[in-house]
Amino acid sequence: MSVPSTTIASADGAQDPALADPRPAVLIVNCGSSSVKFALIGTRRETLILSGLAERLGSPQARMTWKAGDAKFTKELPDADLVVALHEMIGILPGNVRVVAVGHRVVHGAEAFSHSVRIDADVLAGIERCNDLAPLHNPANLAGIRAAQKVFPGIPQVAVFDTAFHSTLPPRAFLYAVPYDWYTTDGVRRYGFHGTSHRFVAGEAARRLGRPLEALGLITAHLGNGCSAAAVEGGHSVDTTMGISPLEGLVMGTRSGDIDPSLHEYMAARRGWNLARIMQSLNRESGLLGVSGVSNDMRTLVEAATGGSDRAQLAIDVFAYRLAKSVSALSAALSRLDAIVFTGGIGEHSAYVRARTAEHLKVLGVDLDPALNERHGEPLTGRISRPGTRTCLVVPTNEELMIARETLQVVQSQS
Ligand code: ADP
Repeated sequence: MSVPSTTIASADGAQDPALADPRPAVLIVNCGSSSVKFALIGTRRETLILSGLAERLGSPQARMTWKAGDAKFTKELPDADLVVALHEMIGILPGNVRVVAVGHRVVHGAEAFSHSVRIDADVLAGIERCNDLAPLHNPANLAGIRAAQKVFPGIPQVAVFDTAFHSTLPPRAFLYAVPYDWYTTDGVRRYGFHGTSHRFVAGEAARRLGRPLEALGLITAHLGNGCSAAAVEGGHSVDTTMGISPLEGLVMGTRSGDIDPSLHEYMAARRGWNLARIMQSLNRESGLLGVSGVSNDMRTLVEAATGGSDRAQLAIDVFAYRLAKSVSALSAALSRLDAIVFTGGIGEHSAYVRARTAEHLKVLGVDLDPALNERHGEPLTGRISRPGTRTCLVVPTNEELMIARETLQVVQSQS
């Protein structure tokens, strides 16, 4: 398939002479096993130029949907693979845009990657070595990088890791109390995820509070389909709820979060299940879906609970209680707590879940202002707490923007 003519240029400034002053932009690529999410962010004013999703790749139903401003588009791409989808993406880039770098979201960087890095052969090999720790995610991320290298030759590519922000966890927070050689020999430790989001909202919370991030202790709660919370002191993650994988910690859409590990043996004996079947249940059939039997989607659950579903109500109660319990636990990692920050689809949009969570946090001095909570925060600061009580904020996350900033920084620091 031929590559449509476009305005891709190398970072050194070579560009389509027909275009006087093309806007530099960073392309963000987030590859799953059969999908790729993408976003194009202009670097001058950090504007989102377009964003989209190519999904069901490799199947007759493959298609691409994207948004530019208020306009929405769909294109069927039967049997398209990743490379074809990325070529198609080039075709939809606005003509006055020059892609100066590609930023890839990579799930697991283990201890090898504590920062975002420009991708070369060594980095690719390093990411591949982390595959065992994220067998579903890292191979897909690698496929995305390899495809992008083909489709965008000469454009710098940067890997931004979900785990990197948590590389500052002290050993007392990252070690499991298992034989020490599990850590030294097999890399068994808590790594944490959603780092890009926690980092972004911590910075944004400091900006909104008008205080330097370096002076703050924060707890950030990223509540989307996956959920995690982090303790952030002086801008560094010092503890988080996810562990060696994104299964540990909070209750999530379909993931159980914390359980007693002896459940594996018990359920194997009770149901004759093997390990894979049990893991499938903990990853895909548990969490909000498992408890409610209704949905993994919080909005649906809140509606169902309002309509009288006891199980939906129970799932929300378990979710909110466990979140509050983790927030309290994370406070042990901090020397001060200046604000609790809610983000992600649930954290940003569900006043009900925030209120239920706050009910269990009275010991920490949490007392929400119901009107501010309903409005998802004061317009400028996002504050939802009453004055004089523990500060709670709603701060929309923007992982794409954070990846774009990191990508640009890496490229600029090396040019
Ligand atoms: P992802 O982790 O896939 O990025 P999101 O951050 O978009 O997901 O979060 C998705 C979750 O946010 C879903 O459970 C969805 O129901 C929930 N959500 C979005 N809007 C609302 C709302 N108004 N009320 C309750 N839950 C909401």
